[in-house]
Formats: sequence, structure tokens, C-alpha cells
Amino acid sequence: MTETSTSRKPIKASEIDPKFKYELSRMPGGEKLLRCFQCGTCTSDCPVARFSDAYRPRRIIRMAQLGLKERVLNSETLWLCAACFTCTDRCPQGVEVASVIRVLRNLAAEKGIVPQVFKDQAACILDSGYAYKIPELRIKKRVTLGLPPLPTSNPESICKALKGVKFIETTGKEGEKSEQ
Ligand code: SF4
Ligand code: SF4
Repeated sequence: MTETSTSRKPIKASEIDPKFKYELSRMPGGEKLLRCFQCGTCTSDCPVARFSDAYRPRRIIRMAQLGLKERVLNSETLWLCAACFTCTDRCPQGVEVASVIRVLRNLAAEKGIVPQVFKDQAACILDSGYAYKIPELRIKKRVTLGLPPLPTSNPESICKALKGVKFIETTGKEGEKSEQ
């Protein structure tokens, strides 16, 4: 089933968590969630929605308002947001759309629902200090081209800074790091 058909499938009463919208409204950035009147400005101005038929911030906000907690937290499109804040700037109701999406991602991450590509990226940051593992070949190529060495990273201090924010647990690296 595609993402679009998943988010549009009929809603069952058993799916609805009536407290979810209040839970979100109490979180920093989610306070104005209930003000959304579904005008669609956020979607029409979103640069990601322009290139994806599946990504609709208005729909994410609606799912959150309706209490479709599991559905929205498991939505793959949640992770497509580029956090550009255009939606937040343009919303006529003052809904902090980008922040609501961040709150939803944090809740999803707490449940371990994070796309593999981001888990891999996070693991790379913890291992090397870089978001992307730079191949040895490319490092050698820099030398032959006379380019300066890359800045040194400090993965240990990154791990220390990220302790307590569940970042390490989310990447599945907790065991490895606590052994060091
Ligand atoms: S722009 Fe604001 S009010 Fe309009 S749909 Fe988006 S969040 Fe709702
Ligand atoms: S913050 Fe996310 S949802 Fe809002 S306009 Fe940018 S990409 Fe779209």
C-alpha cells in the first residue's frame, strides 16, 4: 500500500486517540495546533509538496488533530519535511506547522520509528563525527589534488553531548557506546 493510500484509508473509531491533540498542544511548538482550519496554505507553499504527491503538511496536521496517533507517527512522509519553516511563516492561523512536525518526529523516534537512512546517518555521526562516511579513496584524492586535509572531528565529544537526548538509543548504538 502506498503512503498516499495509507493516509486516506477509512478511519476506524478504534484508531482515534482523543487525548493526542491535547498532548501535542502541551509540547513546545505544538501549542497552536488546534487553530488549524485546513485552509491548505501550508501545503500550497511547501517546496517539498511541490515535488511529492504524497507529502501534504496540511494532512499531517489534520491527522494530528483527529488523534490518528499511530497512523501519523508511522507515516513515512513525516520525514520528508525539510524544516524550511515556510509553512510556519505563511499559516494565517499562526500554527507552527514545522514545529508540530518536529514534535511528531520526536515522538516517532522515541518509539524507534525512524527511517533506516537517518539511523545510518546518525550512526555515522557517532562513529566518525561526519554525517557521511568519506571514502579513503576520496581522502587520498584530496592529497593528490593538493587540497588541505578535512577538519578533524571529535565523535567522543559528540557522543557525550548527545547523551540523555535518546539520540544514541534511536540509532541502536547505545550498547556499543556504553562499552567504550
Ligand atoms: S496554513 Fe495553517 S491553518 Fe492553513 S492548513 Fe496549514 S496549518 Fe492549517
Ligand atoms: S517546514 Fe516542512 S512542511 Fe513546512 S514548508 Fe518547509 S518542507 Fe514544507
